[in-house]
Amino acid sequence: MATQKRQAKYVYSFGAGRAGGKAEMKNLLGGKGANLAEMCRLGIPVPSGFTISTRCCTEYFSRGLKYPAGLRAQVQKALRRVEREMGMTFGDARNPLLVSCRSGARMSMPGMMETVLNIGLCSRTIPGLIARTGKERFVYDAYRRLITMYADVVMEKAEGIDPAEGEGIRARLEKILAARKKEKNCELDTDLTAEDLKALCEQYKQEVRQTLGRPFPDDPMAQLWGGIGAVFKSWNGRRAVAYRNIEGIPHEWGTATNVQAMVFGNMGDASATGVAFTRNPATGEAKFYGEWLVNAQGEDVVAGIRTPSPLNEATKSEQNKHLVSLEKAMPDLYRELDAIREKLERHYRDMQDIEFTIQEGTLYLLQTRVGKRTGTAALNMAMDMLKEKLINEKTAVQRLKPAQLDELLHPIVDPAAEKNATRVADGLPAGPGGASGQIVFTAAAAVQWAGQGKTVILVREETNPEDVEGMRAATGILTARGGMTSHAALVARGWGKCCIVGAGGIHVNAAARTMTAGGRTYGEGDVLTLNGTKGIVYDGAVDMIDATENPRFRKFMKLVDKYRKLGVRANADTPEDARTARGFGAEGIGLFRTEHMFYGKGSERPLFLLRKMILSETEEERRAALDELFPFVKRDIRATLEAMAGYPVTIRLLDPPLHEFVPQSDEARRDLAEALGITAERVRARGEQLHENNPMMGHRGVRLGVTYPEVTEMQVRAILEAAAELNRAGKKCKPEIMIPVTCDARELRDQKALCRRVHDEVCKKSKVRKVEHLFGTMIEIPRACLLADRMAEEAQFFSFGTNDLTQMGFGFSRDDIGGFLGDYLDRNILDADPFQTIDQDGIGQLVEMAVRKGRAKRKDLKVGICGEQGGDPASVAFCYRAKLNYVSCSAFRVPIARLAAAQASLAG
Ligand code: PEP
Ligand code: MG
Repeated sequence: MATQKRQAKYVYSFGAGRAGGKAEMKNLLGGKGANLAEMCRLGIPVPSGFTISTRCCTEYFSRGLKYPAGLRAQVQKALRRVEREMGMTFGDARNPLLVSCRSGARMSMPGMMETVLNIGLCSRTIPGLIARTGKERFVYDAYRRLITMYADVVMEKAEGIDPAEGEGIRARLEKILAARKKEKNCELDTDLTAEDLKALCEQYKQEVRQTLGRPFPDDPMAQLWGGIGAVFKSWNGRRAVAYRNIEGIPHEWGTATNVQAMVFGNMGDASATGVAFTRNPATGEAKFYGEWLVNAQGEDVVAGIRTPSPLNEATKSEQNKHLVSLEKAMPDLYRELDAIREKLERHYRDMQDIEFTIQEGTLYLLQTRVGKRTGTAALNMAMDMLKEKLINEKTAVQRLKPAQLDELLHPIVDPAAEKNATRVADGLPAGPGGASGQIVFTAAAAVQWAGQGKTVILVREETNPEDVEGMRAATGILTARGGMTSHAALVARGWGKCCIVGAGGIHVNAAARTMTAGGRTYGEGDVLTLNGTKGIVYDGAVDMIDATENPRFRKFMKLVDKYRKLGVRANADTPEDARTARGFGAEGIGLFRTEHMFYGKGSERPLFLLRKMILSETEEERRAALDELFPFVKRDIRATLEAMAGYPVTIRLLDPPLHEFVPQSDEARRDLAEALGITAERVRARGEQLHENNPMMGHRGVRLGVTYPEVTEMQVRAILEAAAELNRAGKKCKPEIMIPVTCDARELRDQKALCRRVHDEVCKKSKVRKVEHLFGTMIEIPRACLLADRMAEEAQFFSFGTNDLTQMGFGFSRDDIGGFLGDYLDRNILDADPFQTIDQDGIGQLVEMAVRKGRAKRKDLKVGICGEQGGDPASVAFCYRAKLNYVSCSAFRVPIARLAAAQASLAG
């Protein structure tokens, strides 16, 4: 005798205060289904229904769109239970039950999947429902909505039919509706009579048959199964797939389908529908906040056709103060809803986003889920709930997404105004926050206009170091080319400045002082708005909202640090940046790029001396120029060490190839030649001599120090003398000398010998035995990772330069990736820009290997990261797991990294 296999359970019922599922079963039941079950368990009124599990969905796909055995019987049984609990029968001619079919994945994917409402209406049930409700118009309106949704979702989308824009069945049906309204001379759907709607339904059915070649099913069971299959299939709809790609939601999860008894908010003036938040999602204020409409269906509230009314008196706004609140219109029901609010918050210990319907005086909850919120609201709610003892400290720390802190640190584009703004181009979100201003096309114009008190946005094809002053003066920066680690992006982030790079849709003609975007030409002085957090460029001025300085922010960050184990430093290049970094809580500088003292304000003299050094032909000449440069370098280093008040400062020796500093224009070359007393021809020739085909892999970093030891010597001397002077003045400092772009331990040995010698000379001069410092290296070439054990013999610390490590590991140029990154993301070849978030699969392995090998040789090897990824939350979590000692990022991202680090330790 064959043994019968026990059938898997696919269907979970809920209703009448009982449920097979619960909130913890989100993976199996999806968020919506799990929470409906949980609400039933809590005794909250929920229309009865059942959830078909995500497991059923994945089996449905793996079996080539066939339902697993036993599903039909389980659905039948669950449907009988709904009928019993609701006192109605599905498909019955006299007392018909109608149901909805809704999607619900583990993680909310708002609006990305499909829903079918009013299932069960057909020629047999319509007369019965009219007789029971006495509302013919209501019934035909529901029928019209069913035909539309069903034809669109089940008969068209789920069948993979992809009509041209405006040719889809929904659009066709809407055209018929519009024609009928025109014919009847009415403006609103609600002006149509029962007769009109009845005739419309017939027309709809005809159109469906004609366009889709099949009739709209007149059988409730066929409708139900059509709905279930379509919801499952909508998991793989284009919108849903694209959303999952963006949000990083796994494609194999599948969605659940919730089948639930329909309740109607549009059955007259004792019926209503609404959406609400248990606290204000924009501000976090602990007030019940929401909107409702009398005699309406849920979709009417969100569709924006009628202006919804406020839920209560306390949250009325200027726009809706003349409307009647639910609190006033239906006080008993409002009280009941308010009690449910309280119950839900106590139970879930978080702000909930709920949907409710009142059907002829009876209140039902249709959904609850954790509500989305702004950064400000998230902060306020976390701190309030901690005070209310609703949550503990660890939970409070986990309540803000690190990226949300951005909102608290920069002015941002007002999300409400943004909805109506005209988008003209998209690019990479290189610098956070928002900026609105007049556009200019040269750095000089930016400086000049800003000097006149104007707010400007600097628009460039791409930026180079000579634009720095203009970038500083501008409120926002927009470039047509470049990636996340391009010069503009690095500089902007360092300053916390709003910046969009690689906006391929704009074309800049700097000579003509114009740009084109979105089919329009913009001239100097025209206004644009940038959303640097999202990478969107808008036409004209869009309102901004100010990031209020919130004392709660400081309190919250204190809490964050209590649970954080990973160190957080800043990348800062000037004493001023160092002070900003300290203000944001940096525990040191992880990268001080020496070369930045040759760009921007006050750089004329040091840059001139550097150029003089570069143009030198003999070592003697070079040394003379370096001697002149020395006091400037020492001054900046000393001031930075001092600003960091005893926290470590990692000073990287000169990194870029020298040709970057040779002037490019004839005029600049002439000026330099004149100042140096040499010919312009010699300047040009030297520039040519230094030219390299591939400067990123050319004569840069440690290679300069190998060729010109005197350049290393000068810098080391500046660092150690600055430290010795501070020590003498009784001030603490911790310099760390970092050698860039190394690939072999012998490079380090070579430079270390120089350092030792200079150290001894400085000690002698300063009459001290020793100047405390560390000697280490950047790890930014794959070979250095492979040979990390040997590198650690020489280096006391490693700092991963993941900009170059990513560049050299992938072979993607960091300055040119903007040209093809979009294609790689769209085609799913890359999950994310590896210059923004560390590629844990590949580059991550190099990092882990180097940490392991390095520490095997030197147990106390200090390891950090100073590439741009150091401020990215996912990369910070990776660095914590990879056992780094610290991450280092631009000053404005320090709080974000602190929070990400705390959350990583709490995640274990
Ligand atoms: C790096 O390569 O990651 C780095 C921090 O150095 P830079 O960006 O200056 O090359
Ligand atoms: Mg580098």
